[in-house]
Amino acid sequence: MTIIDGKEVAAAMKSSIADEVARMVADGDKAPHLVAILVGDDGASQTYVGHKEKCCNEVGFRSTVVRLPGETSEAELLDRIAALNTDPDVDGFIVQLPLPGHISEQKVIEAIDPRKDVDGFHPVNTGRMISGLPSYLPATPDGILSLLRYYGIETAGKHCVVIGRSNIVGRPMANLLSQKGWDCTVTLCHSRTANLKEVVASADIVVAALGKAEFVTADMVKEGAVVIDVGITRIPSDKTKSGWKLLGDVKYDEVAPRCSYITPVPGGVGPMTIVSLMRNTLKAAKGEIYPE
Ligand code: NAD
Repeated sequence: MTIIDGKEVAAAMKSSIADEVARMVADGDKAPHLVAILVGDDGASQTYVGHKEKCCNEVGFRSTVVRLPGETSEAELLDRIAALNTDPDVDGFIVQLPLPGHISEQKVIEAIDPRKDVDGFHPVNTGRMISGLPSYLPATPDGILSLLRYYGIETAGKHCVVIGRSNIVGRPMANLLSQKGWDCTVTLCHSRTANLKEVVASADIVVAALGKAEFVTADMVKEGAVVIDVGITRIPSDKTKSGWKLLGDVKYDEVAPRCSYITPVPGGVGPMTIVSLMRNTLKAAKGEIYPE
């Protein structure tokens, strides 16, 4: 059994992005510029945006965080987005989700210029992705593909079961793994799937992205399967300084011995997500997806 080390892969990818940025700057180009809009004071969102800012610094990007109060109106936020869409100094930007309830997330996503939509959530980018055209890939599924590539895990002809059908993880993951080059036979499971246990037990590759701590147990996993655990659930703990610990969607201790490869939580998929956002921003700065 091999434990997939997301921290190692993320570090290697960050270092190659940093090298490329250094070359761009040495050639007289500006360093890529990523902007994050944060509305309100949700603790987890602040942490995520903080990590993104830190990662920008590590790879040599310019980064700006636009902090707006929780009572910002939808119209004000849409104005901010319109300004970033036309600002030639901004290569890509994200609006950190979730947004306060009075703002439509879908309206916000669709207001972002697809050329600057480095989260890859705009329907133009998801449509291009589904059609196999160049697009900004959503960061978490893209990070998982990078892990599979790095470890040389065979996917062609394998049965992959994805648990969870969200627009940011499960659905794009299922689509990407079914595409040419990855060539999996994919089953997408969700909360209404019948016989989930049997379906998961038939998988060569399991991607668990449902957000239910330790849901996937040993009896659901075929001997030799590859298990990718996307879930992150915070639970209280008296054994850590912070007072909580992170659990994945997989009951790691009992599932790991059955696997050929498994991602731990933390330290598996998590570190890859931010690196994929950096890669999208670099692509945006170079005009790789949407050449002028
Ligand atoms: P979501 O809540 O939007 O979607 C969960 C999906 O799981 C839904 O489609 C639902 O149908 C399915 N589901 C729920 N209960 C189920 C059940 N009992 N059986 C089968 N399917 C069930 O969640 P999301 O945004 O896709 O995130 C999923 C998990 O991944 C969360 O724990 C989240 O924190 C984590 N996450 C991690 C990263 C990372 O970088 N590691 C990134 C994004 C999300």
